[in-house]
Amino acid sequence: TQMTAPKIVPMIQGETDTLLQSLGIPRDHYTGGAMAVHSPITGEEIAKVHTATPMEAKKAVEAGHQAFLAWREVPAPKRGELVRLLGEELRAHKAALGRLVSIEVGKIESEGLGEVQEMIDICDYAVGLSRQIFGLTIATERPNHRMMETWHPLGVTGIITAFNFPVAVWSWNAAVALVCGNSCIWKPSEKTPLTAIATTALFERAVARFTEAGNTVPDGLMALLVGDRAVGEILVDHPKVAVLSATGSTAMGKAVAPKLAARFARAILELGGNNAGIVCPSADLDLTLRAVAFAAMGTAGQRCTSLRRLFVHASVYDKLVPRLIKAYGSVNIGNPLQAGTLIGPLIDHHAYQGMERALNAAKAAGGTVHGGARADSDTFPNAYYVHPALVEMPKQTGPVEQETFAPILYVMKYENFDDVVALHNGVPQGLSSSIFTRDLGEAERFLSVAGSDCGIANVNIGPSGAEIGGAFGGEKETGGGREAGSDSWKAYMRRATNTINYGKQLPLAQGVKFDV
Ligand code: NAD
Repeated sequence: TQMTAPKIVPMIQGETDTLLQSLGIPRDHYTGGAMAVHSPITGEEIAKVHTATPMEAKKAVEAGHQAFLAWREVPAPKRGELVRLLGEELRAHKAALGRLVSIEVGKIESEGLGEVQEMIDICDYAVGLSRQIFGLTIATERPNHRMMETWHPLGVTGIITAFNFPVAVWSWNAAVALVCGNSCIWKPSEKTPLTAIATTALFERAVARFTEAGNTVPDGLMALLVGDRAVGEILVDHPKVAVLSATGSTAMGKAVAPKLAARFARAILELGGNNAGIVCPSADLDLTLRAVAFAAMGTAGQRCTSLRRLFVHASVYDKLVPRLIKAYGSVNIGNPLQAGTLIGPLIDHHAYQGMERALNAAKAAGGTVHGGARADSDTFPNAYYVHPALVEMPKQTGPVEQETFAPILYVMKYENFDDVVALHNGVPQGLSSSIFTRDLGEAERFLSVAGSDCGIANVNIGPSGAEIGGAFGGEKETGGGREAGSDSWKAYMRRATNTINYGKQLPLAQGVKFDV
């Protein structure tokens, strides 16, 4: 009898093992556990990790609180030194961690490496910040008085992250929270525990070097809790988690936000987006084409800032859209570890079903779909590669108003600038946005109070690919949180207003008299 050879030889598991070994992670940390990890590249199982029990999670919070009480007394620039060492470990292991991101999430190699670069960047930023945490001195109305503000850390910072930026989002939160004097507990996505385990191992190396240099790190300063949403819920509910930063879908945010509000915890919510671009009559169409292609197809449409809606002025529609459709048809899809690939797989079958559902709904609403079929299913029967879809829509309706986490770009024609800004803002989400124009009036109007209602608004740049120097986050159903640069650090601290009387009188504010 004839034997049929398997179409693909499982190879990712072996490489995953080699990478984890190179980072010094004991094999029993990623084998023999209850939670299976799959690579979206082949669909094969690459590890079995152990999950935290509710008891372990609660203990981690208690330990994190004790760690905070000690860490807050360490001077901020010294806390920055630990983050500087983390940055050094990330630099030294960028290739291995970046590759692991590609394996676990399916990102192309330059994006896996780019994610680690972003971690390095935020470490640099946080080291500088550790000498720049300051409040104001404010004029007081009373003689011989001084009024000022002091910033203090808050306590345990819970960090719940999504699959699509499995490690960068942790670092945006952790690097800043640590220099601010907080302890951290990380609940990564259940789809990406390996990169979290690897990152935690690098953090522990930084801790070892910090302590070898004569410094002390309290036990429990940074804990990793692998598990599903039930573990996340413990962080959400625990009274000693002072700040909770949660990144993920709007559905997750809707479950988490009321619970945090009920116990008056600080919430940093980074939820779904439905990001748009407007292409004006004067737009540089070559630049626009490249910007749209990257923002809409890159990361297989699995960025919170991916471009999902494109409004093209009627006068340039027939010049731009056929070129876009051509680009969609010719882009390289396949194994993200292979040089030249631009679009890797969707994270899983569930994501593929979501894409199919959205395309069917778009067709039912009168849309014309270009692309969108499954790709490479012969080579990778257990993985979900897709041709990116460009859908010409008669109007903004149905699936266009929702975030589908897949490479679908809805393209619509517009005539009038004010109308298109209203349509742009006419969805529940408010993360990122962009306008393509050479007209200063249009560009400024888009950035003005009457323009984009998003947390990020760009000119002649797509909505994705933010730098860490700016504050990152969005409005409305995107949750309102801000992370990374600018003054986002204030979300991890509490402000105390201090008034000091250095005179011998006690003048009361507002001229109040109270003589006893
Ligand atoms: P998801 O909502 O399924 O899961 C995100 C995380 O939340 C996971 O760790 C999950 O275990 C946890 N979680 C889910 N429900 C919870 C609950 N009730 N209590 C506590 N924890 C809970 O999201 P995903 O599929 O991993 O990621 C994709 C989504 O994330 C997209 O909507 C995307 O736009 C969004 N996202 C947003 C940003 C941003 O900065 N705004 C960044 C990345 C991803």
